[in-house]
Amino acid sequence: MNLVLMGLPGAGKGTQAEQIVEKYNIPHISTGDMFRAAIKEGTELGLKAKSYMDEGALVPDEVTIGIVRERLSKVDCEKGFLLDGFPRTVAQAEALENILEELDKKIDYVINIDVDKDILMERLTGRRICKDCGATYHLIFNPPAEEGKCDRCGGELYQRADDNEETVQNRLDVNLKQTEPLLDFYQQKGYLKNIQGQQEIDKVFEDIDELLKGLNR
Ligand SMILES: [Zn+2]
Repeated sequence: MNLVLMGLPGAGKGTQAEQIVEKYNIPHISTGDMFRAAIKEGTELGLKAKSYMDEGALVPDEVTIGIVRERLSKVDCEKGFLLDGFPRTVAQAEALENILEELDKKIDYVINIDVDKDILMERLTGRRICKDCGATYHLIFNPPAEEGKCDRCGGELYQRADDNEETVQNRLDVNLKQTEPLLDFYQQKGYLKNIQGQQEIDKVFEDIDELLKGLNR
């Protein structure tokens, strides 16, 4: 079961990833974890990646792709994997196709958790924090009893700059622009499966599960 998981920030990708790897017992391979592991093991590519990260520079594709190749070659990927955060670009997706061909593997599905941008905006801008005690709330998921006031201490609630509409809008726009060509690429390959992400978390997983049951290997 070889899977790629996609979804914009706020789509609930992390929660679904956890459930998929738990139920199907495949490794969850996120870019961050992969880099950390390669650096910890001190592999040549890991050290290369570290040298870029230490300078605050972007790790070049050839290094990232090399690390992905090493990771996917490991024995725990024999029965499958869930890639999360890679690929980000069509160039990376093409490189992934080559790696998998070398390893005699093939992507089964690219699962895209689809949520309207308006809903993502609501989810991503809803966080509020108490000025006094630091308690966090969310206007949709965990609203305070009284608007603008902390349940615990009565303190005033504020919104972090990272969560404001303009910042979130920009972040989503950048992600959308990057994701669209990738979704087209996978659509053309016939791997893409859109999962409706605007429903209860459990229902989203049911839909994914229904899809994966069909693979059953
Ligand atoms: Zn408080």
